[in-house]
Amino acid sequence: MGNYKHILLAVDFFEQAQSVIDRAIALANINQASLSLIHIVEMIHLADSEYGFDGIMDADISNEMIAAAKIKLTRIGKELGVEQDRIWIEMGSPKLEINRIAEENQVDLIVVGSHGRHGLQLLLGSTANGVLRHAKCDVLAVSLNDH
Ligand code: AMP
Repeated sequence: MGNYKHILLAVDFFEQAQSVIDRAIALANINQASLSLIHIVEMIHLADSEYGFDGIMDADISNEMIAAAKIKLTRIGKELGVEQDRIWIEMGSPKLEINRIAEENQVDLIVVGSHGRHGLQLLLGSTANGVLRHAKCDVLAVSLNDH
């Protein structure tokens, strides 16, 4: 098996994200691969919310979330030495968008955490599983050992 050339790290800003980041950096160094970062801003469905409002959040909130995500991911990118053109902020479904960007940019390894904001209890339906199911390249789910 040849070395990985382009590693895509999916960052969710959850507190355990650091160990996922550390693993991706180590792999990028070992393989002398390019490292890219991605965060997906998810549309929040208000239909299930306690407010009894049926709809999705409005464009203003979406734009604010995108701007906030951009600041956070750019900060992480600077710390890791990742160029701005290798940082993606997308909107929609994490599993689909992560795989779309991976395919469009010849990514050969996607790195995700085994769980994140959705928690251990939702592991079966988690982003890691979703990414793996749809991926055309290798996927590493970094185990997060907090219980
Ligand atoms: P979760 O599905 O929340 O259990 O998250 C599992 C892993 O998927 C996280 O550790 C991240 O690597 C990745 N992930 C989850 N949500 C996002 C997101 N919105 N953007 C980028 N990566 C994500």
